[in-house]
Formats: sequence, structure tokens, C-alpha cells
Amino acid sequence: MNKTRRMSGFKENLCNLCGECFHLCPVLQLPIEEAKKEIKNLIEGEESQYVLSNCNTCLSCNLYCPQNANPYQLILERWNDLYKKRAAPPLYRFVCPTKQSNIWQLLNIFLSNQERRWIYNWMHYIPEADDTPLLIGNYTHLFPFIIGESKLLDNFKPIDRIDQWEGGAYLYQGGYLDVVQRIAHRTKKDFDNWGVKNVVACLDAVEYIFKEVHPKEMGVNHTQNFINFNQWLLDNIDSGEIKLKNQINMTVTVHDNCYSKALGGAYWEVSREILKRCGCQISEMKHNRKDSLCCGFGAGASWTKNISIIFDIISEGMKKFKEAEETNAKALISYCGGCIYLLWATRELIRSKIDIFHVIEIVRMAMGEKLNYPEDHITRAWDIIAIMTYSLILSFFNKNFYIDEITYNKDLSTFTPKKYRLLKIIRYTMDFPLIKSLFAKGFHLLRKILKSK
Ligand code: SF4
Ligand code: SF4
Repeated sequence: MNKTRRMSGFKENLCNLCGECFHLCPVLQLPIEEAKKEIKNLIEGEESQYVLSNCNTCLSCNLYCPQNANPYQLILERWNDLYKKRAAPPLYRFVCPTKQSNIWQLLNIFLSNQERRWIYNWMHYIPEADDTPLLIGNYTHLFPFIIGESKLLDNFKPIDRIDQWEGGAYLYQGGYLDVVQRIAHRTKKDFDNWGVKNVVACLDAVEYIFKEVHPKEMGVNHTQNFINFNQWLLDNIDSGEIKLKNQINMTVTVHDNCYSKALGGAYWEVSREILKRCGCQISEMKHNRKDSLCCGFGAGASWTKNISIIFDIISEGMKKFKEAEETNAKALISYCGGCIYLLWATRELIRSKIDIFHVIEIVRMAMGEKLNYPEDHITRAWDIIAIMTYSLILSFFNKNFYIDEITYNKDLSTFTPKKYRLLKIIRYTMDFPLIKSLFAKGFHLLRKILKSK
């Protein structure tokens, strides 16, 4: 494997220590003098009082910086330093496909037969040079029903390589930059071996990682052309290739994910235009576009105690629901599959009534395709809640760890499921409404107790 130098995206020479980044941050909102002190400390590698332990990795500060210095990337660098010192928390095994009992391995016991068939085909197909692979990705893998049966897939070869780690997108957000660089090399090898010219990713985040982060920060240049799936949807709706038979007359509010801010906002309007073409009216949340709050996932990046990670994530997600409900919209729409599974889990835990759709599902409904909505999502949300609970219990018996392997071994030992008796019992109990309700209450009680400490 070629060794290339990693380059920080933070432009120290442009930063004038004005502090605007952390002063305007929707999460920290530091008084300006504190903000100035904090950026100085981060640059000098001194102790950070607020940012490294509270940042939600939402990316907004890059848009607030009048100097285009990319303070977000400075935070990532400092988390990377912390990772080298203290390693990753035990619970992070949850999203590491090469560690035992990760979410994809655990979820195998809950997938329907139809889902297993889709996933088997997507995981085993080896693309040919003329193919246009659509990277299903780690997160869409968790709810393959949003796209598995759709005619939209006729235009691509769906490929599901969980150990491509979404190109490193979610590790990047956690500041695991040295690992992301290894993934950049690995994905380059895959794409070059396939010989494909075009690659489509289900997530904007993954397109951005391949197009911007790998070459500019990881020193890895891909020769493929990366196509944005949402843009492809919009273009094909406008050209008439995708025929919308129904107008979905629904007021919706739009969740702008953290990565949507990465190209200065290039991703914000595409999904809104798709929704309008499908007949939706949009009612915006208080924080939207450059100020948008994270779905909650980013709260895990600034972890300080393993036990609090899940509770911090849900607490942040609850802010999003509060804003979404205040709009009186019928549904909250996400155009990021990474956010959907957390939003659904949070919805079930806080017993919110707002509907949640992926933008792909809205297009499919407008195309006249049938969804098993909301049943599929509710079932999967409780699968995920059971997996999170089980993973939290397992994490008490594990230590902090380093991400050594990034590629599956030949027998896919960290994908192949085991018996998981305790997980099955936890999930079984969650089929009872009373247990669901007691679980949600107990969860919030624990969340409040941990928050008060
Ligand atoms: S990434 Fe978001 S939460 Fe973190 S400091 Fe920047 S604006 Fe604040
Ligand atoms: S990163 Fe930008 S906003 Fe933050 S202190 Fe430096 S110049 Fe100011």
C-alpha cells in the first residue's frame, strides 16, 4: 500500500483567532472571549475546555468562519490526537465492521428473508468495468427496504461492501483520521480493480469523502467520476425518466445532515427541489441549512464516558424532534441514510408522532411504488434499540481499543452472526407495548441521571 502524507484541512495561516466559529456554534454558543481562548488552545494543542467534549461534529463552524480557515478540521485533528492516546471507547465496536458484535453482524438475526436475499446479492456481486455501481453503504444496509424493491435500482448495480466503511465518512466525523486514510487506499484499490468509470453513493457524505477528503486531506486520488444520487434523482425527475404518477400532498420539514454543509451548502436545495416535485410543501425548522442541528449521532464523537454515549446521542436527537414538531409538519424528511436509523430510534424512545421518511421513499411513493410504511421502520427501530442496549451491556466487559483491521477476513467472521441469546430475549420483550413504554421511561430516567452527573 502506498504511504501518502495526510494533510490537515485546517488553514492555520488564515485563522485570525476571532472566535466567531465557537461563538456562533449552535451547540456551544461560547461567549466571544471564551471562544477566542478555545480556538487558541486547540491550535496550540493545549487543553480544550468545551469543544472536544461537547462538539456535535455538525460542521457549521466552517460556514461561520469569515476566513475560510476550516475550524471543523482542527477539531478532527485534535480528536485524532486523543484517539492515539486513549483509543476508541468500547461501545464504538458497534460501528466497526471488523470487530465482533458490530451492528451489521447483530442485525443479521433480525433481517427478513427478502432483506437477506437483497443483501447477499449486493455483497457478492463483483462489478464489471461497464457497470455503474451504486454503493448501498453501511447505513442504507440497515434498512434495505427503503430501496430494495424499487425500480430505481434498475439503473445501477447495487454494491454493498460494509468494510468500505462508507469511504470513512463516519470515522472522519469522529476524528479517526489515520484510519480514514487507510480506508481511502482500500477503496481506491477496490474501484481500480473493478475498473469502473462511474461510482454513485447513496449518501452525499460519501460522495464528498471520495471527491474532496480523500484527495485533499488523505493524499489519495480516485480516477472515477462520482455521481451524487440525489442530484441524479432530481435530474431524472426533470427529464421525465423517473415518472411521478402521484403528488404527495404533505407538509414536511427537512433535516439537513452535518455533511450537507460540507460544500458550502451545495446539497441543501437538491432534496428540497425533489420534495417539491413530489408535491410536498416545506415548513422549515428554526435551525436549518447552515445552522442545522445534528440528528444526534455527532454527540458520540465528543465522548468522555463510554456509558453516556448513547444517552448523549438521544439527548441531542431530541432537540431535532422538538424543532421538527414545532413546525407542525406531518413528516420529517432526511436525505441521509445515516441519520434515518437514529431518528427512528429516537422517535420510538420519545414516543413522537411525527412521521419520518427518507427522501427516496417520498420519490417512490410519488412513482406509485408501495411501501410497508411505517411498520418496516418501527420494527427496525426496535431492532436497533435492542442492538444498542445489548452493545451497551457488552461494552461494560470490553476495554478501549484501536481499529487495527479495516478489511473483512476471508470467512467474513465479523459479519457472520452468532447465537446472541441475550439479544434475542431483549428484542422479544420489546414486542410488547407495555415493555416498550417501560423501556422508554427507564431510558429517559437513566438519561437524566447521567446528565445530572
Ligand atoms: S462542528 Fe458544530 S458543534 Fe462542533 S464546534 Fe463546529 S459548529 Fe459547533
Ligand atoms: S477558525 Fe475562523 S472563525 Fe474560528 S477563530 Fe479562526 S478565523 Fe475566526
